[in-house]
Amino acid sequence: MEFTRLPHSAPVPGATRDQAIADPGFGTVFTDHMISIDYDAGKGWHSPTLGPREPILLDPAASVLHYAQEIFEGMKAYRLEDGTMALFRPDANAKRFNKSAARLAMPELPEDVFIESVRQVVKADADWFPSVGGGSLYIRPFMFANEHFLGVRPATKYKFLVILSPAGNYFKSGAPAVSVWVSDFTRAAPGGTGEAKCGGNYAASLVPTGEAFAKGHDQVVFLDAAEHKWIEELGGMNLFFVFDDDSVITPPLRGTILPGITRDSIITLAREQGLDMREEMYSIDQWRDDAASGRLVETFACGTAAVVTAVGKVAGRDGEFTIGSGGPGHLTSTLREKLVGIQRGSVEDTHGWVTRLD
Ligand SMILES: *Cc1c(COP(=O)(O)O)cnc(C)c1O
Repeated sequence: MEFTRLPHSAPVPGATRDQAIADPGFGTVFTDHMISIDYDAGKGWHSPTLGPREPILLDPAASVLHYAQEIFEGMKAYRLEDGTMALFRPDANAKRFNKSAARLAMPELPEDVFIESVRQVVKADADWFPSVGGGSLYIRPFMFANEHFLGVRPATKYKFLVILSPAGNYFKSGAPAVSVWVSDFTRAAPGGTGEAKCGGNYAASLVPTGEAFAKGHDQVVFLDAAEHKWIEELGGMNLFFVFDDDSVITPPLRGTILPGITRDSIITLAREQGLDMREEMYSIDQWRDDAASGRLVETFACGTAAVVTAVGKVAGRDGEFTIGSGGPGHLTSTLREKLVGIQRGSVEDTHGWVTRLD
């Protein structure tokens, strides 16, 4: 697929850009360019462009505004120690994007087109790579239905876009552990869209997340919809439980959990390290009992945005409990350092996870 390059008439001046990327935080600064590819039933994917990032025109009847046919991905470009920019497992994002598309009755995008799109826009906006230590370019590929039609059926027109947002270090190293709230709301039910990365799942998580914030917590924990007993995941991160006998549990993918690429990478690294790493259901009652007895020594959450984050305190309807010392535990730190090291090129990449961009 040949991308048409549209010239940018007014890119952000260098000095303004450099100021914006000195301490970008997360999700508020955007780069100059974006990728856009259109889809029409019968014609397939067409008109790929790399052009200025700009507002898009939507008809008020565009189906995404009514029935929420929208999916996205979240990934990052990192700078390796030798200065090269690199992506981490972009093929896994491309595959997951298509699984999400299939669940939302949307067309699949060829994996090589997905990866090439990301590659093109990251290279075009390489000057936007944040200068702050631990920074990255957060990459947001997404697709939505833009046919104007109010009947309830899959749309026949879609748009795929990729935008970039310079990101600082989400949590500075040695960040204190987060406190989580176990919600009475559920995120996903069997047969639903829990394993698809779709905007609708996030819309439904805003009230429970707001409740967690209002009670003074950093994140929300969702339990399963059927029994309200089994731990599933956080609003946007997967969970791992570490025990005193060097065994580790993470909830299994049963259709209601988002299959995190960080989750999959951590499972691989934990097994390599000789840990007894199991994908197994784990209940909220067991979590509380094991934290009290000392059998459970660490809990951490993982995802692209924050990589690996310790959970120190858990609260819910039935009171609260502390995990270990309440701060980041040993294995949490070890696995985090190993994963970050691979992403930054200071630890050998034995899995072919790192894709260099130059
Ligand atoms: C994106 C996401 C994750 C983490 O996935 P990664 O591929 O590791 O970034 C976990 N849970 C939810 C609900 C998500 O949307």
